[in-house]
Amino acid sequence: MVSSVVELMDVSGTDLTVVNAARVSFAKHKDAFDESDEKLIKYLAKHNHWSPFAHTFIQFKISAPIFVARQLVKHQVGLVWNEVSRRYVNDEPEFYIPKQWRKKPEGSIKQGSSKETIEYDIAGTMKYVKETYNNLLKEGIAPEMARMVLPQNTMTQWYWSGNLFAFSRVCELRLKADAQEETRDVVNEINRLCSYKFPISWKHLRPVPY
Ligand SMILES: Cc1cc2nc3c(=O)[nH]c(=O)nc-3n(C[C@H](O)[C@H](O)[C@H](O)COP(=O)(O)OP(=O)(O)OC[C@H]3O[C@@H](n4cnc5c(N)ncnc54)[C@H](O)[C@@H]3O)c2cc1C
Repeated sequence: MVSSVVELMDVSGTDLTVVNAARVSFAKHKDAFDESDEKLIKYLAKHNHWSPFAHTFIQFKISAPIFVARQLVKHQVGLVWNEVSRRYVNDEPEFYIPKQWRKKPEGSIKQGSSKETIEYDIAGTMKYVKETYNNLLKEGIAPEMARMVLPQNTMTQWYWSGNLFAFSRVCELRLKADAQEETRDVVNEINRLCSYKFPISWKHLRPVPY
């Protein structure tokens, strides 16, 4: 069973970076974070003064199914994305296979799925897909064409970098109940890692725990 993975690759800045970026307005700089700095961060977050938060940098390497990547790549402002290309890479494809399948919701389809689940075995289908992909490659078909038979549950990987404010917007939108569960799982990990590295900023940018 292949699962999504979020790795923290690089970070620049701390909560102090945010307050120093804000305090430059008054030509002030501090070398240590204190209580008054938290008040300032709270004020900035509350009033949507986003630019001091954008002086930070955080980089993730993420492995997830293509259908999750397709949703997350829509978040663009303040973020940079570089992804593995199956034009150049023909590694053995790996597939995300859910343990259980959520049923269609009773009410609005915008909810995505219901809590009710069923079991359904797709191992045979995945085996057939993999064989077909490998056969196309064996025939000398270019990887950029052979990949056309790979489904949306094929795992992909990408570097996703950006500033704290941009990732807080991703978390805001993708941790809500109407976001897809598999996407929420990835964003939950982003949420946890941002909170770990920028605890005060994150506490005020993301006041509502999901
Ligand atoms: C539950 C859910 C369901 C969704 N369903 C679909 C779907 O069915 N189909 C689909 O295509 N997408 C869908 N989306 C994606 C959605 O439309 C957005 O593209 C995505 O959420 C990224 O939003 P963002 O605010 O982070 O965007 P970013 O592109 O990161 O932009 C950040 C902010 O900058 C501003 N901005 C960016 N670009 C412009 C612009 N061109 N003009 C004016 N202001 C701009 C906006 O204020 C925006 O909020 C869905 C998203 C969610 C959360």
